[in-house]
Order: sequence, then structure tokens, then C-alpha cells
Amino acid sequence: MSAPSTTPRSAVANSVWPRLEPLLPQVAKPIQYVGGELGAVVKDWDTAAVRWALMYPDAYEVGLPNQGVQILYEVLNEQPDVLAERTYAVWPDLERLMRAHEVPQFTIDAHRPVRDFDVFGVSFATELGYTNLLTAIDLAGIPLLAADRSDADPVVVAGGHAAFNPEPIAAFVDAAVLGDGEEAVLEITTIVREWKAEGSPGGRDELLLRLARTESIYVPRFYDVDYLPDGRIQRVVPNRPDVPFRVHKRTTMDLDAWPYPKKPLVPLAETVHERYAVEIFRGCTRGCRFCQAGMITRPVRERSITTVGQMVREGLEFSGFHEVGLLSLSSADHSEIGDMCSGLAQQYEGTNVSLSLPSTRVDAFNIDLAQELARNGRRTGLTFAPEGGSERIRKVINKMVSKEDLIRTVVTAYTNGWRQVKLYFMCGLPTETDEDVLEIAAMAHEVIRAGRAATGSRDIRCTVSIGGFVPKPHTPFQWAEMARPEVIDNRLRLLKQAVNADRSLGRAIGFRYHDGEPSLIEGLLSRGDRRVSAVIRRVWENGGRFDGWSEHFSYQRWVEAAAEVLPNFGVDLDWYTTRERDELEVLPWDHLDSGLDKDWLWQDWQDALGEYEQDDCRWTPCFDCGVCPAMDTEIQIGPTGRKLLPLTPVNGLRVPSDAQQ
Ligand code: SF4
Repeated sequence: MSAPSTTPRSAVANSVWPRLEPLLPQVAKPIQYVGGELGAVVKDWDTAAVRWALMYPDAYEVGLPNQGVQILYEVLNEQPDVLAERTYAVWPDLERLMRAHEVPQFTIDAHRPVRDFDVFGVSFATELGYTNLLTAIDLAGIPLLAADRSDADPVVVAGGHAAFNPEPIAAFVDAAVLGDGEEAVLEITTIVREWKAEGSPGGRDELLLRLARTESIYVPRFYDVDYLPDGRIQRVVPNRPDVPFRVHKRTTMDLDAWPYPKKPLVPLAETVHERYAVEIFRGCTRGCRFCQAGMITRPVRERSITTVGQMVREGLEFSGFHEVGLLSLSSADHSEIGDMCSGLAQQYEGTNVSLSLPSTRVDAFNIDLAQELARNGRRTGLTFAPEGGSERIRKVINKMVSKEDLIRTVVTAYTNGWRQVKLYFMCGLPTETDEDVLEIAAMAHEVIRAGRAATGSRDIRCTVSIGGFVPKPHTPFQWAEMARPEVIDNRLRLLKQAVNADRSLGRAIGFRYHDGEPSLIEGLLSRGDRRVSAVIRRVWENGGRFDGWSEHFSYQRWVEAAAEVLPNFGVDLDWYTTRERDELEVLPWDHLDSGLDKDWLWQDWQDALGEYEQDDCRWTPCFDCGVCPAMDTEIQIGPTGRKLLPLTPVNGLRVPSDAQQ
């Protein structure tokens, strides 16, 4: 087997390829372990001052498109004396063979052992990737526990949204970065480079201390956690005088200065997304109370229309992708989204490039944008996310959408030619009752009825997709109790019956849902503390792998591990999940500063219980969530006044002329 690469494998001195290659014919999808994709980089090992192994802890097909890893990979490799390579979770078939043949966790770029790198950075989008972290550390030959590592082991650094509460994996990671990674990885690189150049004074401990002193890198070993007799946390305090009491998140303020990825990776094997994705802004102030991403990425920072246009042009030219995704937490909210969509649509009209926008906002404007982007004749799916079934529960979660708005919007989509829309909801929300969920059925029926009346056609469908609610740290719902899985499952069963009660309408409605068990475990991991490390380890020892995949996830395995481990600490699974916290409880992540004021979060939680809505501060006065003063900034929205036009057709492909810049 061979793969394209800028450096021949034989020239890579420490490559495990000769030992790995004979194993690959025995595993599923061996191409995922080969590397050498367009956009991949292999640099000289010996001349690199700092070497990073970057991991997305899931299979290649999920991990490769991950924007966070792609951005950091490129940012690091642009540094002349820095080398970054990627590694992904290996499937259990290869894991078994690697253990039998003593092949360590390897990078797919040059197949180097992960243990040889200076830093092992792992980006977590979901807590269900924690067991895959343990597999990778163990396969790499790195001691599982951070406390057992020597100077010869890489520094294991966690990042991504799940790192905003890294306490459940505190035993396994040496450090965690809160917030945006672009500048943080360069700062870590500088510290590692200097420490190595000085001859590694003070060993691993000194290096970690230097990282901790930045005040934006959390090093769990320098903090002690004391507990009250009832199991709650009494306090979390530094155990050394020279580390900060609170660790602050990193925020990249000027997205135009960081236009990555410029050279997107083009996968060799099938992946979940094969497109060029451009993040058009970061942060969201809509204030949906369940949304951790919206809360922890504040304030809003827009990428200018000019930079977006340039990124799209260069990214497509480099990669040859035919699809562009304009991503963010609520893309239709970009202050220049209309100009951006019409400019790009005009630019790529008549080409084979399709443009898409995640379509979750429930209003007709969203359909206008989708119409604009569909000029090439390719309609992407429309998904609207009312999130809650009843008006009451939508007030609780601060999703300001009326039933009339939703029906009007979906009917507009049908009359504009869409035959199928997807409606996204959550189940298990705070204060939710069966009746709140059953209103989803009434809403779906009405959507189909109104759609048929407006179009005169029975050829319309909607899919109701339901996810389980998980209360997340740094959100107003961080104090909320979770519903038990059997409650969720019963509500979903009732809902399905209600959808199908009218067979003529029910046939036009698809129904997709996740049962409640994985959500409960995600809840344990999201709001867990250091004691949960022992549960994760026991699950992993008992075979837990790929917990984000329903075919691999075992609820029983988690329940048994929790029942075995947690009573030693006087707590249990319910204590972490279905228990409501009170205002004064010290939360495991209170010393990790997302910029949000805890008093404001509590007030917003009280507002949720009072069914009181909060506006979006982009268009109303500030309501003092605390982020902007903490960042010494303000929300950044356009207009920039710079347009994508005029356009110049080149070789039949319309591209923007340089004159526009
Ligand atoms: S500090 Fe004010 S303006 Fe800034 S994100 Fe919070 S509410 Fe909005």
C-alpha cells in the first residue's frame, strides 16, 4: 500500500509505517490510516524545535473535517521551526492488532509515535470522546495518569468546548486551554521552545508551571479540591503560590487576522463533511439558555465579507472542493449575510460550486438566503430549530419563536420549492412536561396541513428530529436537574404515538430521536468533577470506546462503573445528573473563567424558571453578562462597507477580480 506524501516514508527515521503496513489489510477502511492528503504536511523532524501531535478523538471520518484541528495544524506548521502532525482514534480492530504487534499510537502524516512529540494536543467537541483519549494515551505508551508521567512524555493538553470543564479528565491531562486555540498554541509553543533551549530546567514540573503562569492555561495538578461531608465541593485552591486562582479563556478578537484554514485538508477516505467550511463569525448573543457554545464563545466577532470572499476563493482553488459551508452558531445573523450570500452566489453562478448555510433560524429571511444560494440549481436541506415544542418551554429556553412564525416560515419554504424540511427539538428541558413535548406533534401536523393547503400538493414532508438535553457548564442551565432516561423515553414514545395518531398527516412526518441514556452519561461527564475520572477509567478498562457512536456505547457499562466507583466518594450517578444545584454550591468549573458573570448566569436561570425572555444584545442595550468588560472589548459586527463585487469571469469560472480588494 502506498500514499502520496511530500516526504517518502523511507526517509522518515522514526516512522512506525514498516510495522503498521502489514496490519492494514486486516482492518476495515485501511485508507484512513495512510495520510498524505492534499493539505497534509510532513516536515523534517530534526530541525523542528517544537513538535505537536494533534488529535481529534474520534475516527478519521469524523475527525478529519474538524475545523479546530485543521486550523491549529496549519497555524503551527506555518512556523518554520514547528512541526505538527495529526492522529485520530483507531477503530477497535486496529487497536487489537496494534497491541498484539506493539505498534504505538501514530500520526497519520509521517506515522511517527505520538510519544516522541513534545506536546499532544487533543480537541474535544464532546465529552463522549474521553474514553478515546485514554485509548490513545495508552497505545502511545504514555502513562495514563498525568502524575505518573516523566520528562520523556509529551505534555497532554486538552482544548475545545469540552475543555471548559476538564475536571473529569483532570487525572489524564497535564493542561487544558480554555477558549480559542490559534494564539494559545503559539504561546504554548514559545514556552516549550524556550524551556527546551534552556536545557529543560526543572523538568516537566517547571514547564507546566510556566504554562500555568500564563493565566489562560489550566494545569490541574496545581489545584487542590476539598469536599464537604455531603459530597459537594468546598473549594478549589492553587497548591502553589505562583499560579492564578482563576484561569481565563482565550479569545481571538480579530478573525480577519486569522483566515484559517487556508489549505483545507482533502480527505482520502469518506468523511462526514467534504466541503470547504468558512467560519463567518464566532460567538452568539441570542442567549439560548441550553447552548454552551453560544455562551462560552461570546462576544460576537464577525469575519469581514472581504475576508470571507477571499477565503472561499483561495480555499476552493487549493482544495478543488465543490461545496462551501458558511458556518457559525447562527449564520443568518451576520450583519452582512445578505450581501455575502448574493455576492458569492453571483460569483459562483454557472459553476459546479454549491453554497450552503446552516439554516436554523426560524424566519423567512433564512429562506431568502437559501434561495439566493440555490441559484446554481442545488437546494441544500432546510433545518429550523424551534428547540422546544410549546410556547411556554420556548420561553424557558429563551428561543423566541412563535408557533405562527414557524408555520409561516415552513410554508414559505414549501411554496418556494422545498419539498422537505427538518425541524429540530430537544427533549428533557428544565421544567418540561409531557404536554410540552406533545405539542411537537400538533405543530408538525399543522405544518403539513398548512403546507398542503398552500402548495396544493401532498408531496411535502417534514422530519422531526429530537435530541436529548444535557445541562452544560457555563450556561444558565448549569444548575438544572436532568430528566431520567425513562422519563425521556416515555415522552418520546407518547410523541411518536401522537404524530402517528392522524395517519394521513403522520405519513408525511419522519421521526428521529436519540434515547435518553447517552444524554445522561454526557450529563455526568459535562458537569462532573475530578472524582468522575475514576469512572471514565473503569469504563475504558471494561472496553469503553467510541462512546459517541450508538453501536459502541453501552449504558450498562457506564452505570456499572459509576455504581462501583462513586459510592467510595459518597456520591452516585444521580447526584451528578438528576440533582438540581443551589446558588451557593461551588461548581467544579467555578475557577475556570469563561468571561460570564456567575451572578448573571444565576439571574438568567431564575428568569428561565419565571419563563422570562432575554433579548439579543447585538440589537439592544447590553444586559451585563460580563463578557465584554472581562475581554476589554465590545461585540464586533459590521458593516465593513467592502463588497465582494465586481466580478470577472475567468475561463468560464466566475471569480472575483483583484480590483475589489
Ligand atoms: S457584556 Fe453586554 S454586550 Fe457584551 S456580550 Fe454580554 S450582554 Fe452582550
